[in-house]
Amino acid sequence: MKNLLGSSVKDLENIALDYGQAAFRGRQIYNWIYNYKNKDKNIEQIEVLPFDFRKKLKDDGYKVSELSIQERNLANDGTLKLLLSTDDNESIECVGIPTEKRLTACLSSQVGCPMDCKFCATGKEGLKRSLKASEILDQILFIENEMNRKVTNIVFMGMGEPLLNIDQLLLSIRSINEDFQVSQRKITVSTVAVPKMMSKLSEKSFQILGNCQFTLAISLHASNQKTRETIIPSAKNYEIKNIIEDSKKFVRETGRRVSFEYLMLNGVNDKLEHANELSNLLRGFQCHVNLIEYNQIDDVEFKRASLKNLQLFESRLSNRGIAVSLRKSRGLDKNAACGQLRQNSINK
Ligand code: SF4
Repeated sequence: MKNLLGSSVKDLENIALDYGQAAFRGRQIYNWIYNYKNKDKNIEQIEVLPFDFRKKLKDDGYKVSELSIQERNLANDGTLKLLLSTDDNESIECVGIPTEKRLTACLSSQVGCPMDCKFCATGKEGLKRSLKASEILDQILFIENEMNRKVTNIVFMGMGEPLLNIDQLLLSIRSINEDFQVSQRKITVSTVAVPKMMSKLSEKSFQILGNCQFTLAISLHASNQKTRETIIPSAKNYEIKNIIEDSKKFVRETGRRVSFEYLMLNGVNDKLEHANELSNLLRGFQCHVNLIEYNQIDDVEFKRASLKNLQLFESRLSNRGIAVSLRKSRGLDKNAACGQLRQNSINK
């Protein structure tokens, strides 16, 4: 199977020429597949193309979309969570988070995840495989089709560790930026931090994209090494002070600010002493801290921190000169935690 999704206009012009068609036929395919108003992504439905050309493409195994909807969950606040099936019968999740002006797509980069974070439903299962760029992009098509709106922002915060799928991640970012017309500055790549991969990300980004303008969000979730290792087992390979140093290097190399994600877990990392420790760790570093409410999942010991602790933590960081914001959980009523829909479907 050859997926046209992720192809540039030049790629599609070349495909048209290979089939003895004029180059503009490639541009017609391009305009069709990246226009969210075209609901049907079946090649046969691209009626501006000659029938024979469509048939040949289809017979030769070309496709636009290769995922299918297994389950959809619409929360009261409008957040839409989709469980999508892949061609090899795996399932992945993606989420559309609407506000009046934005539609943010939260995308998966892998089927499962090898990082085994103890608070995460996805981490419980381990890694099945990494996604191809076309499968990453297909998630955007489904969100746009289902929500009847163009996606304006992208966050790679779904299933998987994006830095363990760097090539496909960057190929998908190229297409999101140039074909889906979402500025790199509206794309956030979230990582739990893998040794050596931050510098590889900036280096490869300059090679593949010519620049590195997306935001890097580092899931820190702790203010010291010991606590971090209890909630993120892979943290034992990467000292927290080295993560901060590598983050500073990423900022110097790219000119972009990084943000640190901090999941507030009751009794684990939500005390004022942790806020003090975190502000000491980040002092003098131009960065941003996002405090996140935890979506509790079954069979996991962690509980959501109280709103009072969240607010005290936030004002302590702010008073100590750290840029901080509080991210409220969306879609709480419908299996909101990452990996929860997939886990439920496997358990059925
Ligand atoms: S939180 Fe992210 S990196 Fe950690 S196990 Fe879950 S999906 Fe993987």
